[in-house]
Amino acid sequence: MNAYLVFIPEHRPVYRKPFMEPENILTTPFAAAFDAVFNMSSDWSRMLSLKGTGFLQATDTPATGWLHQYIPEEDRAWVWHMIREAVSGKKKFRLTHPVLTADGSTGWALSTAIPVMDNQDQVMEWLVGAIDITESHRSADMARTAMQVAERKIRLYETITASTPDLIYVFDLNYRFTYANKALLAMWGKQWNDAIEKGLRENGYEDWHAEMHEREMDAVRKTKRPIRGEVSFPHAVLGRRIYDYIFTPVFNETGDVEAIAGTARDITDIRNAEMKIAESENRFRNMAEGTDVLINVTDGKGANIYFNRLWAVVTGRSVPELLASGWIDLVHPDDKTRVERLLTGSIEQKLRWKSEFRIVRSDGSFLWLLLQATPRFHSDGSFAGHIISLVDITDIKENEQRKNDFISTISHELRTPLTAASGFVEILQARAASDGDQHAAAMLTIVDKQLDKMTRMLHNFLNAARFESSNMHMRIERFDIGMLLHELEDELKATVTSHILSFKSREIWIDADREKIAQVIHNLVSNAIKYAPAGSAIIIECAIVNGGLRLTVEDSGPGIRLEDQPLIFTRFYRVRNTQTKYVPGFGIGLFICSEIIKAHNGQIAVESWPGKGSAFYFTLPVA
Ligand code: ADP
Repeated sequence: MNAYLVFIPEHRPVYRKPFMEPENILTTPFAAAFDAVFNMSSDWSRMLSLKGTGFLQATDTPATGWLHQYIPEEDRAWVWHMIREAVSGKKKFRLTHPVLTADGSTGWALSTAIPVMDNQDQVMEWLVGAIDITESHRSADMARTAMQVAERKIRLYETITASTPDLIYVFDLNYRFTYANKALLAMWGKQWNDAIEKGLRENGYEDWHAEMHEREMDAVRKTKRPIRGEVSFPHAVLGRRIYDYIFTPVFNETGDVEAIAGTARDITDIRNAEMKIAESENRFRNMAEGTDVLINVTDGKGANIYFNRLWAVVTGRSVPELLASGWIDLVHPDDKTRVERLLTGSIEQKLRWKSEFRIVRSDGSFLWLLLQATPRFHSDGSFAGHIISLVDITDIKENEQRKNDFISTISHELRTPLTAASGFVEILQARAASDGDQHAAAMLTIVDKQLDKMTRMLHNFLNAARFESSNMHMRIERFDIGMLLHELEDELKATVTSHILSFKSREIWIDADREKIAQVIHNLVSNAIKYAPAGSAIIIECAIVNGGLRLTVEDSGPGIRLEDQPLIFTRFYRVRNTQTKYVPGFGIGLFICSEIIKAHNGQIAVESWPGKGSAFYFTLPVA
């Protein structure tokens, strides 16, 4: 509320009866000094008349409703309150107040009221002159509002500039700071008064640094364009820090540069982190480039993002070419589908994977590689791709091949004399039987068993070598596994006396290589006999589980520790513990079983409880 009441220090009333009738005064030059002149009853309850220049509605009729007619509703209470106060003083007073003007709009009036006294010094009525101050009041109001807006903005900007860790400052055209925010003052270790209106050098900038900024300010003025740079500066508390800064021209209304505003951001931590990343990347590159391992890095979608140079040497393909087209087309045709499947599976499942395969070298020859892919993850745990390392295992593979060839040749060569020996033993057995020579017959049975064992062993070796070179021939036929178990039961029960064999067979037809499946069952039963204590029971059972055949060989032997369980199916792996140490073997029996079952699209596994026993089983699709 901007109205105010003023008592004018003048005790002598201006007009006194009978000099002039008050209504006549309204037409005197006195009235011409006002935009409206009116007279009021002594207690202001009635307006007697009003004359005006169009500012307020004129009236000649005395009326009580003047407050409603001339004062806006929201102001009536306080205007009336002030007038009553003033009237009781019986002295001339002035009041600035809102009015309802002749055109119905709200305006402002400065009203001066003079009491007209009678001879007994009683107020007869009041003479009032009002000046239209609507315009000046409006502009004062606007100025006040503008000021309030400006102050609010300043407060807002102050809050922003004070709370940001960024440095904010303004230079005048003489390179002097005219503004520095809290963070900048803290960086200097200075107070506002010691820093403002000072140049760069006075605020602790070294000569080279001050000159550089002054040159930049000249450039900003000349080009009227911002400039960006990076510089290090000693912070009063934090020590040497690196800042990324921008100088921006501030234009006046005619488009000239009148100041230069700057902001600077502390990027020390970012730079340090970048340096650390660069260092670690460098280390990785040095390592990757200096090794004789092929290294390839992929992103989360499987796209190649890095190859070390050895790749180019080995494949004859440049690194950019490799990045563009990868290496899968270089894989040996026999290995390609398998590697492709592993590759896509590992990306989908974000898995570690391992494989051996061949790729073609730049000279056209093939190279055996052992691949190991390790998944990598971003700090938020999301999948980032794989680091793939590939080692040349061609020599190992060739040695293995030579060894396999050697074993298979030996096995093959030994089989002929063994077959001959078995044949002669059979003849001798028949002769001993007809001679009634029981002693010779018993010994010949033992010889026969041993020859049989040896034949199986050679058979295993030959098979192992064939698996290696993928030369296994399968003779698939439809047969009843129950029948096969009956045959094996007859054969084994005739020869095995050390354990109690219990066969639980039923009719289940499968399409498979009968001889090889028999070999698998034979191997599993032989192992049970080998490892389980004499006299214990061995159960051989076939059943339909989940719509497929499941054949189990269960013993109550020493069992196999969980960590050894997946390894026993690999070639030459033998568990070394006190129970198995003295049991002879080569560690290829289960490997062969596993290869045969896999070749039939089946699965082989073991469930075992150390100290309690093992249950080996395989599954095969039924016919
Ligand atoms: P080998 O018996 O000639 O060593 P295998 O490949 O048949 O080779 O078996 C691999 C290993 O698995 C064996 O050395 C043995 O430690 C373990 N194993 C196999 N069968 C059994 C079993 N029934 N009970 C306990 N351990 C077994």
